[in-house]
Amino acid sequence: MTSAGRFAPSPSGEFHVGNLRTAILAWLFARSTGRRFLLRVEDLDRARAGAEEEQLRDLAAIGVTWDGDVVRQTARHAFYEQAIVRLQAAGLTYECFCTRREIQEAPSAPHAPQGAYPGTCRNLDPAELEFKRSTRRAAIRLRADVGEYTVNDVLHGQFTGVVDDFVLRRNDGVTAYNLAVVVDDAGQGIDQVVRGDDLLPSTPRQAYLASLLDIPSPEYAHVPLVVNSDGVRLAKRDGAVTLKDLAAKGFPAAGVRDLLLESLGLPPGPLGHALAAFNPAALPRAPWVWHAP
Ligand SMILES: [Zn+2]
Repeated sequence: MTSAGRFAPSPSGEFHVGNLRTAILAWLFARSTGRRFLLRVEDLDRARAGAEEEQLRDLAAIGVTWDGDVVRQTARHAFYEQAIVRLQAAGLTYECFCTRREIQEAPSAPHAPQGAYPGTCRNLDPAELEFKRSTRRAAIRLRADVGEYTVNDVLHGQFTGVVDDFVLRRNDGVTAYNLAVVVDDAGQGIDQVVRGDDLLPSTPRQAYLASLLDIPSPEYAHVPLVVNSDGVRLAKRDGAVTLKDLAAKGFPAAGVRDLLLESLGLPPGPLGHALAAFNPAALPRAPWVWHAP
């Protein structure tokens, strides 16, 4: 399979300029390295009717093109289950019956990093397991045998982060993001992952899981987010931040594209022009502060 990069939005609402900037970067990283560029809709959770169509239209409007058909996670349940069965067979999973509150209130294990699952259900004996199964539906957790894992990132260098017994399948039956993303990237032949740097902390979990499934780690590039004037990650409440809002203010999609390219130190115009000037090492490393034009 040829190598590929990707953009993988959740269809939870309209894109804002921060999402579009990340999409442009993912496209530039892929195209500048001769990769295919794939689009995956991460619709396992929080999908809003009509959002996918709006998002695809916005990508097209700023010139982000993709190869092949759009892949949707809701069509890939069987692949997630295959991965879980494989991990189960290797003794690498267990059932967890904890509520969110129980996890928050549980004393953490010695030396466990903050926020890590305390391991409450890791070693239930058969009687406890039987009783708990009668009271609550289980989530499936990974039985991790490391506490941290290191990944390489084009922009961040070596990054070491927490690996705990994270959830693979939630107790409502929905596949957890960390599993789906690993299975999907492998299934689509994706060997380059460019996304917002808010996802860097969970990347060691994904890379560790990939190693357990004999999947090579992709090249990672976690790019800076767009923030509002208070330094907080941009959101819809920050005013005119979508292509639709900006068009209503007389600012067309091509103008937004050029503004985003300028924020990356790249020349305006069709993305193909920016491609020639694109150099990951020269990218700004700080969040970009959005000021509505
Ligand atoms: Zn538990």
